[in-house]
Amino acid sequence: MLKKFERYPLTFGPTPIEKLSRLSEHLGGKVELYAKRDDCNSGLAFGGNKLRKLEYIIPDAIASGADTLVSIGGVQSNHTRMVAATAAKIGFKCRLVQESWVPHEDAVYDRVGNILLSRIMGADVEMVDEGFDIGIRESWENAIEDVKAKGGKPYAIPAGASVHKYGGLGYVGFAEEVRAQEAELGFKFDYIIVCTVTGSTHAGMLVGFASDGRQRNVIGIDASATPTQTKAQVLEIARRTADLVELGKDLTEADVILNEDYAYPIYGVPSEETKQAIRLCARLEGMITDPVYEGKSMQGMIDLVGKGFFPEGSKVLYAHLGGAPALNGYAYTFRNG
Ligand code: PLP
Repeated sequence: MLKKFERYPLTFGPTPIEKLSRLSEHLGGKVELYAKRDDCNSGLAFGGNKLRKLEYIIPDAIASGADTLVSIGGVQSNHTRMVAATAAKIGFKCRLVQESWVPHEDAVYDRVGNILLSRIMGADVEMVDEGFDIGIRESWENAIEDVKAKGGKPYAIPAGASVHKYGGLGYVGFAEEVRAQEAELGFKFDYIIVCTVTGSTHAGMLVGFASDGRQRNVIGIDASATPTQTKAQVLEIARRTADLVELGKDLTEADVILNEDYAYPIYGVPSEETKQAIRLCARLEGMITDPVYEGKSMQGMIDLVGKGFFPEGSKVLYAHLGGAPALNGYAYTFRNG
């Protein structure tokens, strides 16, 4: 589906699928859990889901004649770290708007983890006091204008690289990769679990898995705590991406499965249950998930197994999308382990 699109390689290639045997056993052994390790997808600044998206965006950035990538996220945004790494790799400058999306307890929250890495990679980091919103922000538009005013040539990448025209393509590729891996493994996954916030990861998967009728097997776990906006954005990106790849099928609201039960209390703040899920997965599998995104989808998967949501014998693929660097900003949260 992606042959006609140019791809700038930023990742190592297909990511491994690993069986989570001890976690599966711990949860009763009736469902087999696997993880696809997109958190280990690249040598660029610890990798993660944004690199799959950026692989299809960067050719357009280079062709545009730009010299500066401009993007936006929260203070501990994984996405802005990935944009900073990509800019370094392709020889561009990088301007980042970091909004105060998350209330935090750690004194060093705005100096460690993702933002520390972005600074080390040379990004021009601007702190802006604005709350959480996955939409297009004035602060980002101002940054684009500012780059121009200073003689630079900006290339604009929205939050999460999601509402960019090519933002959904990377995770169409994820689905194609899973299909090829299923052929080697000799079985198919019954469900795919994905953490959803700005929407293009989930949307790309919907399009990719829709080509064999499996779009409703993709279970989005909302971590935005603004699920109405997130769900609408997933559908919009999925439809745009479906047109781009000429899917030939109409995707509807019913195709977007978004579980809203685990995003509480708000975006960026883990609940007690999210923290327990992070610890459980770390202690049984040595697999690290973060309090903002993957910890919430991990909590969702664990809880859904416990509730019997997945029929006995199901094979469930957890898409691990990265995000561990943010943990450095949550030392206080885990001060007792
Ligand atoms: N997981 C991690 C680690 C992320 O950084 C993000 C980014 O927002 C997501 C999941 C959610 O992906 P998306 O924004 O494409 O919905």
